[in-house]
Amino acid sequence: MGYVDSHTHVWFKETLPKEFFSNNSGYNYVPPKIDEIIKEMDSANIDYIVIIAYPSREIWRTKEDFPINTINFVKPHANRFSVIGGIEPNRITLHEAKEWLEKQYESGVSGFKLHPVHSHVKPNAYREEEGGLKQLELLYQFAQDHDLPVVIHTGTSMFIGSRNKYADPIYIDDVSVDFPKLKIIMAHMGRPNYVSTAFQIVRIRRNIYAEISSIPPKKLLEYIPRLEEISYKTIYGSDYGGPGVKGIAENLREFLSINITEQAKENIASKNPKTMYRPLSELI
Ligand SMILES: [Zn+2]
Repeated sequence: MGYVDSHTHVWFKETLPKEFFSNNSGYNYVPPKIDEIIKEMDSANIDYIVIIAYPSREIWRTKEDFPINTINFVKPHANRFSVIGGIEPNRITLHEAKEWLEKQYESGVSGFKLHPVHSHVKPNAYREEEGGLKQLELLYQFAQDHDLPVVIHTGTSMFIGSRNKYADPIYIDDVSVDFPKLKIIMAHMGRPNYVSTAFQIVRIRRNIYAEISSIPPKKLLEYIPRLEEISYKTIYGSDYGGPGVKGIAENLREFLSINITEQAKENIASKNPKTMYRPLSELI
């Protein structure tokens, strides 16, 4: 049984807009070659990786066509990749939001990502008392109706243009109440300074799942000492492509050597992600 890396930013040169290479994020990303990535996956017994191709006009100059371009590029290896799309609900009209969600769905995305810190939007901004953003309500409703998960970034981001006041996971509590059948994946568990909030809402809300990417595996039990307790609803990811992540294979090896049971490791790095994200080959 192979593993799944359910959170990567493996973005290929061929799929990125030209403007990406002159962005002002303060981060110098070097795109990998697809053959090298597949080789590395093979070396670590990884069945497939999830590429998060989210739109971020402010930071990366990417838009809603980014996941579709990514899908077209990785299609020859459709069983090795799963692609997550998304919209920037506060930067497009309701009509555009509907069109892009449908286009991405038809292309074969395995979920949608919302990046509150990069898009400058609170996860509960659809609520009347939070501004009534209809595009965001549509995103959650669409995902729920089509049984696709929504990944929501939590915790701070260092890139220029980030607004870390949107990093708090507590706003996700509203989403879990208002969309009870939606699978909500809380990326990064609020690291570094919101982990206790994140842990608590994963425990008390049935439809919020923990996702541990970008926490260095060697520090995982320091951040989340009771990881084993929530291992039945926790998902492994590396956040490779992001700063400080050594590599897809190396990050996984480090995770597999932490001090939790073998059963918990298998749930987190294989079983749970496979029930959450289907590979592209099953979606096209
Ligand atoms: Zn990420």
